Amino acid sequence: MKQPRLYGVVGNPVSHSLSPWIHRAFAAQTQKRIVYAAYQPPLDAFEACAQNFFNNGGSGLNVTVPFKPDALALANRASAFARRCGVANVLAKRNDGNIAAYNTDGSGLIKDLQSFFPNGMSDQKILLIGAGGAARAAACAIADAKPAAFCIVNRTFEKAKTLAEVAGCEAVESAPADSTLVINATSAGLAGDTDSVLTSDIKAALQNANLVYDLSYGSSAQPFLTAAKRCGAKQTCDGYGMLLWQAALSYAIWEGTLPTPSLLTYSSFSR
Ligand code: NDP
Repeated sequence: MKQPRLYGVVGNPVSHSLSPWIHRAFAAQTQKRIVYAAYQPPLDAFEACAQNFFNNGGSGLNVTVPFKPDALALANRASAFARRCGVANVLAKRNDGNIAAYNTDGSGLIKDLQSFFPNGMSDQKILLIGAGGAARAAACAIADAKPAAFCIVNRTFEKAKTLAEVAGCEAVESAPADSTLVINATSAGLAGDTDSVLTSDIKAALQNANLVYDLSYGSSAQPFLTAAKRCGAKQTCDGYGMLLWQAALSYAIWEGTLPTPSLLTYSSFSR
């Protein structure tokens, strides 16, 4: 019988990752046999860990914080989108032995947003809060979706400016109040520090937004999304759907089959 293909997720920390559960569920859904493991190398040992994985028969890796820039650097090939973002969350060993890097975080976000905007985002005025690793992929994918307006605000303005240049949008020091879609890509919720994101300009933007989306998910997203509702936002959504979609798109790169993320409920994975 053919050996199951070996996949995994690399991060530090990695114990919180839902990727092993998600990918095993995708394998069951698509009737494939895979093995999926989690790896937590020391902060200076990503390359050794990934090379060891691929040299020992591994087929593909998901890569999470803080190794996404290292994943791009390790690959012999990279998609144009991953190169533009400067970060990769997927590595795949190709038949010719090359390791290819991809970024499915941005497309995962857009796929999830499609359930709110089935006809595209050309009429949306979008505000992205944050300019870290996740925001890079989000910003490039949002700019590619060609919304009516798109700007980035970040605690450290210089980082917003750099990202806006890469993505092709505007960096602003103060959030515009007429945003229709506000996306929180900060890590403040993870650190229990949401209040510091809720400056008066952000609150005004939340008040008028039709949809407020937080890239973080589960309990980390709740303080920001609750505040958004309190400010007057019409709808809120956390990043669980994005998480599922980036995983589904990476599974499709590896296995050639796109699973159906909507079949996986958060409660079936959250511990
Ligand atoms: P980074 O550490 O790379 O970036 C953090 C960002 O948050 C920076 O822009 C930082 O601002 C800002 N920030 C942090 N704390 C505060 C604060 N107290 N007040 C204001 N701004 C703050 O993190 P990531 O980009 O990797 O992750 C961001 C979020 O995205 C996380 O919650 C993560 O869980 C989520 N995520 C979700 C994914 C999904 O699939 N749903 C995928 C990847 C990430 P500054 O530049 O000033 O430091």
